[in-house]
Amino acid sequence: MPQYDLVVIGSGPAGQRAAIQGAKTGKRVALVERRQVVGGASINTGTIPSKTMREAVLHLSGYNYQNIYGVSYRVKDKITMGDLAFRVQHVIKTEIDVTQAQLSRNGIEVMTGIASFKDPHTLLVTNSHGAQEVTGEIVVIGTGTKPATSPKVAINARTIINSDQILEMPEIPKTLLVVGGGVIGVEYTSMFATLGVRVTLIEKRPRLLEFADSEIVEALSYHLRDHRVTMRLNEEVESVAETPDGGVVANLESKKKVMGDALLYAVGRQGNVDDLNLPAAGLEADNRGRIAVDADYRTAQPNIFAVGDVIGFPSLASVSMEQGRIAVARAFDKPAKSQPAHYPFGIYTIPEISFIGKTEEQLTDEDVPYEVGVAYYREMARGQIRGDTTGRLKLIFHRETHDLLGVHIIGEGASELLHIGQAVLILGGKLDYFVNTVFNYPTLAECYKAAAFNGINKLTRFQ
Ligand SMILES: Cc1cc2nc3c(=O)[nH]c(=O)nc-3n(C[C@H](O)[C@H](O)[C@H](O)COP(=O)(O)OP(=O)(O)OC[C@H]3O[C@@H](n4cnc5c(N)ncnc54)[C@H](O)[C@@H]3O)c2cc1C
Repeated sequence: MPQYDLVVIGSGPAGQRAAIQGAKTGKRVALVERRQVVGGASINTGTIPSKTMREAVLHLSGYNYQNIYGVSYRVKDKITMGDLAFRVQHVIKTEIDVTQAQLSRNGIEVMTGIASFKDPHTLLVTNSHGAQEVTGEIVVIGTGTKPATSPKVAINARTIINSDQILEMPEIPKTLLVVGGGVIGVEYTSMFATLGVRVTLIEKRPRLLEFADSEIVEALSYHLRDHRVTMRLNEEVESVAETPDGGVVANLESKKKVMGDALLYAVGRQGNVDDLNLPAAGLEADNRGRIAVDADYRTAQPNIFAVGDVIGFPSLASVSMEQGRIAVARAFDKPAKSQPAHYPFGIYTIPEISFIGKTEEQLTDEDVPYEVGVAYYREMARGQIRGDTTGRLKLIFHRETHDLLGVHIIGEGASELLHIGQAVLILGGKLDYFVNTVFNYPTLAECYKAAAFNGINKLTRFQ
């Protein structure tokens, strides 16, 4: 029976980084993946396909240049699902290749098959050739999630789909219902709206993206409505049915009916734990398939760790990678530092949102005396050159110490721009850093300086 120091289950961002950290530590590592290709949901169905589709939508629709050349500006007039899928498939293939090469360069044994526990150290790997046992001193579970299902919404993979099936739609619908105002639902809403699709977004909570700063979410909502998105907030879907003309109707609990050519069901995700036979390892998952871990990502079984989406929030590829690295370093008693309180969020709506640190709502609840400085892209030369006049950057800082407490951005390049603020925040920097620093001109980064001045001015006026 093959014996390894480390066996990792799942080749998504969490599993990849766990395996590579093990190899870098000089350990003998095996990685088990049930798909024929590596990369997990991140490369094959989630992050990479959606972000590449977004890029294709932005390019082909001419969106970024419509403020300059007019709303009729297009790179391609009739955009098809094929146009979007073409670019997506190219990037998926390349990313799989890069990941495969990285695993092999690090001497990691990749085994194809479904892993299930026989005992805390032994796994059964089953594929079309049969079953094989492998043992690991340490086992890391990085099995990720799949789209959650609902008895109220029967997915038909054609007109009623989940987020794994977007690119399988035969054509871009004229009207689309999106159920779920979380990150996935809102990202796809904005992409389809940019393509000119009439989207109705149905969300049972009173607002979208409830963990983001409300002012930024308001700005996004305004923009979505401006792109003819109808938002049905505080509304729950009672049932969904196909209509005789090939469309879809969503019956809401409030007795409203909403019609569309297709429906995307994007309400939550469920942990991939069904095949793992967790009881054989003395473990269990909760009703959403999440495995409980401690601060080192160790499960109730001392030699078994769990990382990535299978442990729940924040369910981001970026954070999953970090969890994989930290778990394996801790498992083998190697030093590893991380900043869990300062994970950044990137939400690739159109326009993009990114943030780090506290929101105004959190600071108000905590009675922290804070002040806010805001800068608008339209007031920056680069904003005008780029044609992004909707963007804004908001700094939240302590009004007495000037400590930076949060950075919230909406607009072109937000997820890249955020990392300037992240560095200052994590290094314990103050608002004064931005005031006293020269930024390249013309850049969007100048927003930091303008927002800092805006914030400082508020202090002097009201002191
Ligand atoms: C539409 C969409 C868009 C997203 N956009 C972003 C984004 O922009 N930025 C971001 O940071 N995150 C994004 N995410 C989230 C991101 O994809 C996940 O956080 C990330 O993939 C989680 O990584 P993971 O390694 O935990 O799991 P996964 O990537 O899901 O990988 C788990 C792997 O384990 C394998 N597996 C499962 N069970 C077994 C078993 N028993 N035996 C063997 N193998 C098994 C699976 O086949 C899979 O390959 C997005 C997700 C979706 C769905």
